[in-house]
Amino acid sequence: MSDKKILTTTAGAPVPDNQNSLSAGERGPVLLQDYQLLEKLAHQNRERIPERVVHAKGWGAYGTLKITGDISKYTKAKALQKGAKTPMLARFSTVAGEQGAADAERDVRGFALKFYTEEGNWDLVGNNTPVFFVRDPMKFPDCIHTQKRHPKTNLRSATAMWDFWSLSPESLHQVTILMSDRGLPVSPMHMNGYGSHTYSLWNDKGERYWVKFHFKTLQEHKHYTNSQSEGVIGQSRETYQEALFGTIENEEFPRWSFQIQVMSEAQAECADFNPFDLTKVWPHGDYPMIEVGEMQLNRNPENYFAEIEQAAFSPSNVVPGISFSPDKMLQARIFSYADAHRYRLGPHYEALPVNAPKCPVHHYHKDGSMNFTGQMSGNVDAYYEPNSVNGPVEEKSALEPELRIYGNGARYDHRVRNDDFSQPRALFELFDEGQKSRLFDNIAAAMSGVKSEIIERQCKLFDQIHKDYGAGVRARLK
Ligand code: NDP
Repeated sequence: MSDKKILTTTAGAPVPDNQNSLSAGERGPVLLQDYQLLEKLAHQNRERIPERVVHAKGWGAYGTLKITGDISKYTKAKALQKGAKTPMLARFSTVAGEQGAADAERDVRGFALKFYTEEGNWDLVGNNTPVFFVRDPMKFPDCIHTQKRHPKTNLRSATAMWDFWSLSPESLHQVTILMSDRGLPVSPMHMNGYGSHTYSLWNDKGERYWVKFHFKTLQEHKHYTNSQSEGVIGQSRETYQEALFGTIENEEFPRWSFQIQVMSEAQAECADFNPFDLTKVWPHGDYPMIEVGEMQLNRNPENYFAEIEQAAFSPSNVVPGISFSPDKMLQARIFSYADAHRYRLGPHYEALPVNAPKCPVHHYHKDGSMNFTGQMSGNVDAYYEPNSVNGPVEEKSALEPELRIYGNGARYDHRVRNDDFSQPRALFELFDEGQKSRLFDNIAAAMSGVKSEIIERQCKLFDQIHKDYGAGVRARLK
């Protein structure tokens, strides 16, 4: 018997001719009853789904997270216990560019991880930078608008970016990282990943600790200068895809050291900065790194669209032992990421194979578009809760300790009592002369065409970080 597969319609019927449309005569016209032709054309029209508003261009692979350190005093999460090995998916991305953008552009990189744990999926949706441009989610859509195209010119606008940044001093830290060497890594393998937000861990005694997650590249940091990247993009716009896919095909599996910083609730009370402010890091000297394990990427997806374009990461996905914090940006992303997936992929995005947990899933959500899972309670009579038909019930051991609330409901001015200069200054002082010089060059280049009053407002902010910073940028602009 031949093992040759027969071409069928999506309804399974054999297709007799896939080369010639059904026509009234040799010269046409075609007949409306040629369903195979109609189906092919209709499918082609529906091949694209909305690209992500941010992080549209991405590259991803599967791997494993291995835990080698003992952090059981901080967390009961099974995936974080010594000896645990958890399958995972990583998706890296640029933030601003559309799907067709070149990979080697200066931009923040997304560093999104999905861990398929036995207690449900844990997603850590971070960046290659430990901080972000804004600390209050009220500013998030405006911040992103400045990275995207102008409504009339349909061009990216340096004016919009610097106008917004120069009026938002909390962006200085991220802007300094973006314009420094680390703002243009040569590949996803040659950069760190940071959970960026403050999250929390909680242990089996019900004690909560605040935590920062770090994934440090073991391939070493490598960056392009602006002029190197121009040459690279001239040769190929797909260098990250080529590099990540190629290195895994060659079985040179990239690795990252997984580390955390921990802060007790008592330490957070007396910290001299807001530990839940996404524009700030936790200084290593005060909150030392704790080695937890290693992440390795070792398998390419079989189908980019199904497994990477449809991969849906959301900070809302936590598991017992890992939770949120008062970080306002994190709290907004808990809503907005899952909401983006419902819009792009539909209400059942978590049931798609790449997003589906590897552990049993039972819930009472019903129906909705493209529901292919049926009744998820495991019992046809259990379509409401509580019930007396032995449907799934809540698990009290997953109840996390109370989240400490700091203050009352009000609109607190995020500029008050917030020092936006000391941490970028600490970073600037880490840079050697070559790094500082490239920072000034990159900023001056990015300011091309921007009005002088905006440039001067921004340079005054650089002056407050360090007089050499403002002076260095001004000298390059002459
Ligand atoms: P440390 O000197 O202990 O830490 C400095 C850290 O800065 C390094 O560990 C490294 O982070 C990172 N770093 C080193 N060179 C560069 C560079 N060229 N560009 C960007 N980051 C670099 O001091 P602090 O912890 O007090 O931090 C000082 C400043 O370093 C911060 O204000 C912040 O800007 C930056 N930083 C701090 C991080 C933190 O979590 N504390 C993380 C990243 C940057 P890594 O080991 O992650 O590569």
